[in-house]
Amino acid sequence: MKILVLNSGSSSLKFQLFMGRDLSVLASGLIEQIGNVQSAAQLSFVDSSGLEKELKRSESVADHREAIMVMADMLRESGVLVDTSELVGVGHRVVHGGEAFHQPVRIDETVIVAIEALIPLAPLHNPANLMGIRVAMEHVANIPQVAVFDTAFHQSIPEHAYLYALPYALYEEQKIRRYGFHGTSHSYVAQQAALYLDRPLEDLHIITLHLGNGASAAAIRNGKCIDTSMGLTPLEGLVMGTRSGDLDPAILFYLGRENDLDMDALDTLLNKESGLKGICGENDMRTISEAAGQGDKQSRLALAMFCYRLKKYIGAYIAALGGVDCIVFTGGIGENSAIVRQLSCQGLEWLGLSLDEDKNNIRQQEILEIQAPDSRASLLVIPTDEEYEIARQTLQVINNS
Ligand code: AMP
Repeated sequence: MKILVLNSGSSSLKFQLFMGRDLSVLASGLIEQIGNVQSAAQLSFVDSSGLEKELKRSESVADHREAIMVMADMLRESGVLVDTSELVGVGHRVVHGGEAFHQPVRIDETVIVAIEALIPLAPLHNPANLMGIRVAMEHVANIPQVAVFDTAFHQSIPEHAYLYALPYALYEEQKIRRYGFHGTSHSYVAQQAALYLDRPLEDLHIITLHLGNGASAAAIRNGKCIDTSMGLTPLEGLVMGTRSGDLDPAILFYLGRENDLDMDALDTLLNKESGLKGICGENDMRTISEAAGQGDKQSRLALAMFCYRLKKYIGAYIAALGGVDCIVFTGGIGENSAIVRQLSCQGLEWLGLSLDEDKNNIRQQEILEIQAPDSRASLLVIPTDEEYEIARQTLQVINNS
């Protein structure tokens, strides 16, 4: 019994093959530079032996159809998927499920039309996700395909938290509201936290912090998300690698008028040139922390801003939840940056949160507990695994259908 998980981006295809009820990983890989005729595709592939094969192709991969063929060849040649009939299902990551999808669904023509209708809300992501779905449905037409949405976990957020204080007609007519993203990751680490703490998820108040190049926080009460920092798009909320996160919307009118910037220029400014990169010229937290450690002023500022914004969200979500049992750090930064965890928890002792600096500096692959003995809430570092979660949800949908 094998499950294939596909994460299809505009010029990339990420895949992972799982086996059995325990969903052990048989192979994973990434094909980049799809459609770039100037440049050879970058392929990396790891099979179950854990051996990474960096494969460089001399020719480019023209489109997602060819990428799926290349992937199928790699899986066949390495012996992990000799025949596609070994698959019980294919799980697809879909970024935007709007209000239509509260949970993963088996894909049929109606689902495809609904994902298509959501393209205006995710113009970069949903078309790429759909491309992967269409090609996979052609390639393995008889295998059930499941869509797992980044937004679905946040559909439990109540109205007073998902609405913006704009004319209500904008919500009614155009569905302008908070959707939130990284839902698969928030949901996965919250479940892992409950398992680790050996308490039912339904009894816990949890704040999950997914801190990667994109970053978001979620407040989870009794297993249900009640608020999250990303909004209509992934631009809102925390300071990110190149995204500004929260700001006064009037800055846009000001820059539009004073600097004569049009909508596309403002979009690029806020999404690609802001965040950590805007402050110190770098978006990689490793480089920033090193430079900050060596006294670089702008890097120290970028780090301080990132952690200050994070701390404000932790405080806000403790208030929204009415107390917290556990805070989870995950994503590339959350899992690896002791300094970010330390600075974002500093000063929260008054709220009963206290971090143990020695434990915080331990590096390990498994779940790490970093609170001090007197901390009222647990502080956990949990590696996220979105592909595993997509495979798990895919299997669940298939078993229930
Ligand atoms: P992700 O988007 O989850 O892959 O995370 C990417 C971010 O994680 C980048 O900002 C990396 O610099 C950061 N990151 C990865 N490893 C480390 C590390 N050891 N220390 C600090 N940041 C890290």
